[in-house]
Amino acid sequence: MDTEDGCPTCGEPVAAGATPCPSCGSPLAGARPAAVEATREEALLALRLLESAGMHPILAYLDDSGVPHAIVPDEPFTGGAGLLLPVTTVFAVYVPEPEADEAKQILDDARTSLPEADA
Ligand SMILES: [Zn+2]
Repeated sequence: MDTEDGCPTCGEPVAAGATPCPSCGSPLAGARPAAVEATREEALLALRLLESAGMHPILAYLDDSGVPHAIVPDEPFTGGAGLLLPVTTVFAVYVPEPEADEAKQILDDARTSLPEADA
């Protein structure tokens, strides 16, 4: 039953590999969350890590309902027209479904190899 997948953004059923979502245009259709981070910096760190490993990660934020919306990593959030995110926003890094397992492995390896740091 893995051949069909719901779009994480609008909930419409999306065929495997159908990206972007035919209903709402979300690039997250068919993607899996590889990491969920509390800050944009941490999410960007994961994003760059996956990019450098040849993956195709997508940065997203989760709205109040936990619905992910893709965002452009290099665009300042507050620079646009009224796109002001609440401070409680959680960020997620999505990867295409075929890359999900490897992406998680890469992030796990990176976490365990990092020294314990007091933020
Ligand atoms: Zn959709």
